[in-house]
Amino acid sequence: MGMTENLPLPDEAGQESLAGRRLLLPAGVLDAHGRVHREVRVRELTGADEEALFERATASGARRVNTFLARAIESVPGLEDTPIDEAFAAGLQLGDRDYLLLRLRQMDLGDAVHQVVRCPACGAKVDVDLLISELPVRRLEQPRASYEAQLGGSTLRLRLPDGEDQAAVEDLAMANPAAANTRLFARLVQDIDGRGAPTESEVRAWPAALRAQLSAWLAAHLSGPDLFLDLGCPHCKAAMSYAFDLNAFFLPSG
Ligand SMILES: [Zn+2]
Repeated sequence: MGMTENLPLPDEAGQESLAGRRLLLPAGVLDAHGRVHREVRVRELTGADEEALFERATASGARRVNTFLARAIESVPGLEDTPIDEAFAAGLQLGDRDYLLLRLRQMDLGDAVHQVVRCPACGAKVDVDLLISELPVRRLEQPRASYEAQLGGSTLRLRLPDGEDQAAVEDLAMANPAAANTRLFARLVQDIDGRGAPTESEVRAWPAALRAQLSAWLAAHLSGPDLFLDLGCPHCKAAMSYAFDLNAFFLPSG
């Protein structure tokens, strides 16, 4: 488990520095010896980086983020022998990927974000204005390659999701979120009750209670920025829970 803080502009004298383009990942990268590397050096973004993020014709959202992050990350101190390429970006935990996107936006295009979303109750367009520095972030104290969890009377060994998992389920998540969960759980669970990793059809046959407990476990253990915002519709006053759209926010106009 980790601790939650906001995503404020860091104390520039500390290890994380926006001016120095040094960032500290909320989870970090585990090397072959089990050491955690959290510091990442990032380049200043160019128009070519923006174009990589918006290349909708050729790549899914997760793959565009891989390309973008492989360009933006200059180095990871302590991992000089590891190539910083799309596979490296895909292996970062989801929260670290979101964190890098938010910090790069904050550093090069400013803290204030404006988005327009549609109210699900009345259909009106709602302006959302927020500061990236106000988003809460959860940092992992000690990331691990795998975790053990007692859920629904079973003992599970599992890992946390990365960019590869995101790419594997994102199309399905639009069409059928439960089917996306089935695929995600089959990827993440490495063992259940000593029987090894479950297949997708085994996960599909699990009791709904076990699946719900696994979802809750993941929500409690994921690190990174919290992208869920609670707002009220100014037109009809309905409560709107809104997931901040990282894919759409990079342009200054939102
Ligand atoms: Zn409304």
